Amino acid sequence: MNALLACFPMMKTRPAAGPAAGRTAVAAIAVLFLAASAAYPYSRDAGSYEPPEADADGYYWWKGNLHTHTLWSDGDHYPEVVADWYKENGYHFLALSDHNVISRGTKWIHPTEHRFTRGTGAEALQLYRERFGDDWVETRVVDETFYAELDRIPPGGGSGGRRPPEEHMELGQELVRLKPLNEFRTLFEEPGRFLMIEAEEITDFIHVNATNLVDFIPTQGGDSVRETIENNVAAVMRQREETGQPMFPHLNHPNWRWRVTAEDMAPVEDLRFFEVYNGHRNSRNYGDDTHKGLERMWDIVLTRRIGEMDLGVVYGLAVDDSHNYEDSTSDVSRPGRGWVMVRSKFLTPENLIAALESGDFYSSSGVTLSRVAAGGDTLSIEIEPEDGVTYTTEFVGTRRGYDPESEPVLGEDGEELEVTRRYSDDIGVVLATVEGTNPAYTFRGDELYVRARVISSKDKEDYYSEGEKEKAWVQPVIPGARATE
Ligand SMILES: [Zn+2]
Ligand SMILES: [Zn+2]
Repeated sequence: MNALLACFPMMKTRPAAGPAAGRTAVAAIAVLFLAASAAYPYSRDAGSYEPPEADADGYYWWKGNLHTHTLWSDGDHYPEVVADWYKENGYHFLALSDHNVISRGTKWIHPTEHRFTRGTGAEALQLYRERFGDDWVETRVVDETFYAELDRIPPGGGSGGRRPPEEHMELGQELVRLKPLNEFRTLFEEPGRFLMIEAEEITDFIHVNATNLVDFIPTQGGDSVRETIENNVAAVMRQREETGQPMFPHLNHPNWRWRVTAEDMAPVEDLRFFEVYNGHRNSRNYGDDTHKGLERMWDIVLTRRIGEMDLGVVYGLAVDDSHNYEDSTSDVSRPGRGWVMVRSKFLTPENLIAALESGDFYSSSGVTLSRVAAGGDTLSIEIEPEDGVTYTTEFVGTRRGYDPESEPVLGEDGEELEVTRRYSDDIGVVLATVEGTNPAYTFRGDELYVRARVISSKDKEDYYSEGEKEKAWVQPVIPGARATE
């Protein structure tokens, strides 16, 4: 047992040599480790990882991504490799949210002909083997017994589902097993360091993520966009009520295929979260000449909910919606583009969800905040500065007495387009612009809500759209309604 324990420090240290050499070394250590015991084959951490520091009240900022794909649906790598990327890159929590499937039971894929490995299946499998060891990777050849087992796997549709496609069921084909979350999460999870949260992207006509669910939720359908959002959101809330487990729905990428308008979103009572920034390059975060960008839609939704509908705020999430990982030939949706920083005492789903639901978090595509305080008559922010980078903070809100009128956007032939309507400039006004690392805004008292965006002078390296700067989004507060600190 002593020899075994002595192994651990070694395995926590990432070799200084290049990544390939590092992987081989880790694999070699993993083999040694397996020879000595039946324990897990894998444990490492980023050499540069710095644990977060608690503030005076014992709260930490936890970094997490709530929208992630793996080979369980249309991501192009094995779930362990995906989880490894996030842990290695300093994240504290990760929700794997594949399309219409939760990673339970068994899913077999053809390692090279699977449509989502996009020609990189051989490299992906090799990397998976090197990093986790041949004993960890499970393969099998299709035989008569396999056919019998297949009959017991529910068919499932879309890119989710657990059955391999027909063309991969011929006798003699070698398949790789995708492990369920509960089999591999223990490789990565550590108290106060890394947490995995079960999730699903309910992929209907529109997409809704369910985070920390207890059971699979099938698509609910609906006769309109609004009804489809409502039905899928309601299904998550129903499961929460029935099980007592905290979980929440969030609306994904509203501008993907221009599916969702601000008018569709605003009246959905239980919609508390949407993606204001999605790192997938097809998500159209910034809109175009005809379609509003997501921040503009956010202001319209907030104004109408608070000013006209007596509904609560909707919070804005930044997420990766990552599909393309190591060795991928595509950079359409790489990991690391957008995340949330959640402020709570403990790294547990319950603590994180409670903090998210009380707006005690911010979203980021690069900017780090050390403090956000909404109390009394002020919203104040402390930015953790980087050398040579400057910061501009815009406080955004709508004042009472705004003009609520709107008009439709018309097409070339004068027809009304099914896009977010045009509203007055009173909505989502920049109330103040502050330079520097300690921006603050004092409420005048007539604001329906105030939120902030921090824009840095630094170009975002692995950008969602070319030329974008790193940002942070501070969640909306209703003056007088919320006090955090
Ligand atoms: Zn989606
Ligand atoms: Zn997605």
